[in-house]
Amino acid sequence: MIVLTVLGGVLAGCGDSEGTRARTAVLPTASREPVKGSDSPSPVPGSSPPVPARGPAGLTPVFERRADGSGPRDTAAGADKAVALTFDADMTADQGPRAADGEHFDNPALIASLRRLKVPSTVFMTGRWAQEYPAQARAIGNDPLFEIANHSFSHYAFSAPCYGLPTVAEADMRADVERAFTAIRRTGARQVVPYFRFPGGCYDDAALKALAPTGVTAVQWDVVSGDAFATDADAVAEQVLDGVKPGSLVVMHCTRSAAPVTDDAVRRIVPELRERGYRFVKVSELMGG
Ligand SMILES: [Zn+2]
Repeated sequence: MIVLTVLGGVLAGCGDSEGTRARTAVLPTASREPVKGSDSPSPVPGSSPPVPARGPAGLTPVFERRADGSGPRDTAAGADKAVALTFDADMTADQGPRAADGEHFDNPALIASLRRLKVPSTVFMTGRWAQEYPAQARAIGNDPLFEIANHSFSHYAFSAPCYGLPTVAEADMRADVERAFTAIRRTGARQVVPYFRFPGGCYDDAALKALAPTGVTAVQWDVVSGDAFATDADAVAEQVLDGVKPGSLVVMHCTRSAAPVTDDAVRRIVPELRERGYRFVKVSELMGG
């Protein structure tokens, strides 16, 4: 179980335990909730986030769903029963040897299920994952069903403490995110969107300031699937089904060694949510982009 213990530090970055923490972490940015409406400036395709944010200038905007139901649920996609399933493709810089030894940080069966079920979804990919699985990254990034967003290069924390993750120095934050985009684009993936998920959901104003020049929008979540290290797909499915509300953003993983039941859970979640009248959208659609 050494493997799971070590990886625990990594997947804690978007797993179970961090849900409460992530929601706490976003509170100081509540005043920067993205704004929708005809008075919003038009986005510049491909270069800036589709949702402008109000609040202090010079800070990365944060897109989030809040547990109290406030936030951008009044966008077109948020008003109806839309839900965004997101999948974090975690991998750290030092996990190459483990991948070489046969540990699977990818999850092709999950991607195949999403295709078979026709579920539009957003993959938050680390640059290191893209380097390890370039063919998969390219295939995901060139399938109109998916879009790839940035989950840092090596899944280090952007504020400390953060579940024991190593920390990126403030001076290196911008370069880390740009390095991840470069690694993802180098695979040939075309549908790469300017969104960023902080490992662990951990950030502060210094991180938001450091990343502002990259033009990304930070994306949080309101539903933690609990798929990290889960062994019971039904429990994961139940947690998601209990948590989803119109406009929800669900965090799951695309890393089968550490989230082995995600594929099973998705195959239970998707038909049930459709039965309840939900439709699946990418984060870009949830944002109204
Ligand atoms: Zn992560």
